[in-house]
Amino acid sequence: MMRSLFEKNIRDLKGVGEKRAKLFEKLGAPTVGALLRLYPRAYEDLSHPYPIRLAPLNEPCAVRATVLERPAETRIRGGLTICKVKVTDGESDMELTYFNNPYIPAMLKADEEYVFYGKVTANFLKREMSTPEFVRAALCPPVRPIYRQTQGLSSRMIESAVKNAFELLPDRIRDPIPESIRVAHGLCPLRFALENIHLPQSMEDMEAARKRLIFEELLILQLGLLRLKGRSRAVSRLRLDHDCSEAFYRFLPFKPTQAQKRAVKEAVADMMSGFPMNRLIQGDVGSGKTAVAAALCYCAVQNGMQAALMAPTEILTQQHYASLSASLMDVRVALLTGSMPAAKKRAVLETLQTGEVQLVIGTHALLSEGVAFHRLGLVVTDEQHRFGVAQRTALASKGDHPHMLVMSATPIPRTLALMIYGDLDISILDELPPGRQKIDTYAITAEKRQRAFRFIRKHIDEGRQCYIICPMIDEGQNDMASVNEYAEKVRAEWLPGYPIGVLHGKMKPKQKEAVMAEFSRGKISVLISTTVVEVGVDVPNAVVMLIENAERYGLSQLHQLRGRVGRGEYKSTCILISDAQNEETVARLKTMCETNDGFQIAEQDLKLRGPGDFFGHRQHGLPELKIADMMLNMDLLKEAQSVARDILNADGELEAAPHRGLRAEVKQLFENMAN
Ligand code: ADP
Ligand code: MG
Repeated sequence: MMRSLFEKNIRDLKGVGEKRAKLFEKLGAPTVGALLRLYPRAYEDLSHPYPIRLAPLNEPCAVRATVLERPAETRIRGGLTICKVKVTDGESDMELTYFNNPYIPAMLKADEEYVFYGKVTANFLKREMSTPEFVRAALCPPVRPIYRQTQGLSSRMIESAVKNAFELLPDRIRDPIPESIRVAHGLCPLRFALENIHLPQSMEDMEAARKRLIFEELLILQLGLLRLKGRSRAVSRLRLDHDCSEAFYRFLPFKPTQAQKRAVKEAVADMMSGFPMNRLIQGDVGSGKTAVAAALCYCAVQNGMQAALMAPTEILTQQHYASLSASLMDVRVALLTGSMPAAKKRAVLETLQTGEVQLVIGTHALLSEGVAFHRLGLVVTDEQHRFGVAQRTALASKGDHPHMLVMSATPIPRTLALMIYGDLDISILDELPPGRQKIDTYAITAEKRQRAFRFIRKHIDEGRQCYIICPMIDEGQNDMASVNEYAEKVRAEWLPGYPIGVLHGKMKPKQKEAVMAEFSRGKISVLISTTVVEVGVDVPNAVVMLIENAERYGLSQLHQLRGRVGRGEYKSTCILISDAQNEETVARLKTMCETNDGFQIAEQDLKLRGPGDFFGHRQHGLPELKIADMMLNMDLLKEAQSVARDILNADGELEAAPHRGLRAEVKQLFENMAN
């Protein structure tokens, strides 16, 4: 009964026709249930309206006043109409102004008292409000919701649809949170929460509703995450018997850093424990995460298991393949990408299944159905934030609770990471390989571009290489044109006679590979590229990173791009070209010039962009949350996590009657996840 109403098409609501239904769909509410989960983004507090004289100026507030006389419309230039309304609270007067709204005279009646909501302004003569909202004082609700609106669908229309939805809602609705948990954690029932998140009787009630809905969302998220892992303490049959990392270090062309050794040691201990490893390696760009992964793959393989390394781009996969096949000489390594010819792919799939291939390195192609392993023991995901949780799990499900290692350069504060990833263990690479020099970073205007190119030329003449990140006029559509055009200019005017390569997202994987390979081998001096080189590419001989239109990129992205240089023994430089003057851009570029520390940059990014954006879907691959904010609701997140653990310990499959509601919600949240 309940579900059916929740699943009722939005069109079945009073006042919602075909056209409006489309708009609701656009807002993410194709059903009545979804509409009730479309929470307001803010509220107008009308519960304590001000008298005119005491109303705060220039900020939204509610003012109670009576209309003095019937408003009249006057025509001004260009067919515009203006309607001035005089109101009073008995002590002071105020003037309201409405433009182009012919209904005002009929709606605002003389001698009637209203609550007006808007900004009050004042000059030395009088107080005014321009186009305030209003409700008759006698009917004024204490709080009014403000919804995220869309063209053709105003906040008020959404409010009235929500009211109609509540009319249809039966008194008893099924609450996914079991009553015992609800009571123990001081949470209000679902019906109260829904009513008071939309149409609260007071701000306190709204807060109570909000707390409950945030808790509910976080609980469902945590349940889903813990269940996705679904193996919290499953005994592993893939126990590592021998630690072969010392042997591996002998293959390395360099000495591992203390941090790398520590990370490897921690992961090896996990794999020897008899339980599946679930570990995150967090390290700034250039900290040497690949070598850690290689060491662990080597250990797995030497212990008779297969290992899989998944990376988000073809270029990165190629590069890992090249470097790992070189350092793991006695391991049979294969490459698997989407662009490989079918016959070759088939051959790889076969050898994977027989166990002949010991380590496979691939893109998303590893997730496809045809991929099966003989004895998958270790799954490594590089640049984990590029993948959804579900994808990582999909790869793991090709083995029997294999060990999992994820690597990320996005520094997430430890406490938060622990909560996002549930019971994930974390190793931090807090040390860069020796001999790394600070990358000098300069922000310049386009006027100084010539000087930047002279600087580039000097380095090329010394045998070094450079990257230029090229302006994208319009992401996707025009980037090919703009890169090529830019490259022409570089060839003809700025660096005539030098070998130049071009790389962009529209190229075929084969072409991209070829260009990257030439750049790696030093055949190309300058690589002009879009941000496709952003992730993980490693050419230690490249020493200058020039970024055109630097204002277009976020801090973390700039830091990733800059991380392409400074990877070898040579002093490296990053040049940011931008003419943008706005405060935020200037702050961003200044941060880049001042620090090389990824953690500090992430923090600054958080400050400049706000947590919602920073921890947006793309950053962590989690489902989108409607009301909770993991940064702001840390306490509730902790509470929800511990409740989720208790529930799953008692009922791992969420099959008991009190947990069925939760089970359905978990399923829905993770199904809606765009991967
Ligand atoms: P990231 O952590 O960004 O993935 P990489 O694994 O690509 O970093 O390593 C960056 C560069 O540093 C590579 O050229 C790698 O060979 C080199 N490197 C890694 N570890 C060391 C080390 N201990 N000593 C010297 N160079 C190292
Ligand atoms: Mg890397």
